[in-house]
Amino acid sequence: MRLPGERRWQQVLEDLKGRNLLRRLRRRGPASGARAVVEGQEAWILCSNDYLGLSTHPDVIQAMIDATRRFGAGTGAARLISGNTSLHEEVEEKIARFKGTEAALFFTSGYHANVGTIQALAGEGDAIFSDELNHASIIDGCRLSRARTFVYRHRDMNHLEDLLRREGSRARTRLVVTDTVFSMDGDVAPLEDIVRLAEQYDAVVMVDEAHATGLFGEHGRGMCEEKGISDKIPVQMGTCGKALGVFGAYVAGSSELVNFLINRARSFIFTTAPPPGICFAVIKALEIVEREKWRRERVQALASRLRTLLKSKGLNTLNSETQIVPVVIGSENSTLAISRALLKMGFFVQGIRPPTVPPGTSRLRVTVRADLPDGIIEDFCCALEKAIGSTWSPTGEQP
Ligand SMILES: *Cc1c(COP(=O)(O)O)cnc(C)c1O
Repeated sequence: MRLPGERRWQQVLEDLKGRNLLRRLRRRGPASGARAVVEGQEAWILCSNDYLGLSTHPDVIQAMIDATRRFGAGTGAARLISGNTSLHEEVEEKIARFKGTEAALFFTSGYHANVGTIQALAGEGDAIFSDELNHASIIDGCRLSRARTFVYRHRDMNHLEDLLRREGSRARTRLVVTDTVFSMDGDVAPLEDIVRLAEQYDAVVMVDEAHATGLFGEHGRGMCEEKGISDKIPVQMGTCGKALGVFGAYVAGSSELVNFLINRARSFIFTTAPPPGICFAVIKALEIVEREKWRRERVQALASRLRTLLKSKGLNTLNSETQIVPVVIGSENSTLAISRALLKMGFFVQGIRPPTVPPGTSRLRVTVRADLPDGIIEDFCCALEKAIGSTWSPTGEQP
């Protein structure tokens, strides 16, 4: 017997499958550096955001164990109830020092941080200006906020200015929000121009450094440091589950901002405090980022080599300037086939399809990491060429 809803869910799944849009979990075994067994096949992981290889770093793992022994596995309540430990405060002090800000607030995830912060900063009567390729958690934050949201064309400053001029004046607060490194294209937001427009139109700027924290800037603080404009951006969000290899996220800025969020960000207030083990592991990961500059330098060197090789083979890597290197294929079907063929050759790369990316731009999203040995980039590019060749069919679309 079918329970209410089940028939419809089945229909939706069949429809997605028919359009090559069904998503399915692929299982991987424990990672040993950049290698793991994926669906029975040993492979190089070229689609993780563990860019610096810190998720398996012995000091980070040991920190999680030590803190868990001392404080327990879980916190038992929200931060504002009885969940706030000394390690939550320590990780926030560490993040603020790392970012060079007055204060920071630790969140359960980047998704929580974006949804809660945007919804706290903007409400009815306010206007949000958001890049069209911003992360889904920013989009959801805009929706939850009930502010009027204006989406500007990707990195298009004329469009942003036009919207600020036409729509901004009626709003009580104007909030411009952008990824600094875009998660599916690997390109970079024009932060200097955004800051200039924000000054001109009296707007608050919020940046999402999910793919930049630990990777850019003299001290690894992110793209705002790289561009020398950190002190002009009042709301700086970033994640701890990507380059830092652990979990959680932060919003860094003034103590007014942090106290405001403690009182207003619903995704902070109404959720159980993150485990202390996570806080301590993030502290260790930040120490490694500060100490071991070679990790981010290696990531950028490998990414640059990868982009050059792919371009020399005539492949489209969009405007990537970072460790995220898309290879645009076009059709969903070819993208999936190439991803499958690559796994057979020992390279794990996910195909990314709509609605994560616009229709007709399905792609492989290749990411590099500091712990890849020399030569792997070259081997991967050869494998990719073979995979594209072997999946080409005269009736199908040529990738
Ligand atoms: C991954 C990501 C997030 C969400 O962070 P989580 O910690 O994974 O929830 C937010 N913004 C961007 C740009 C991201 O890539």
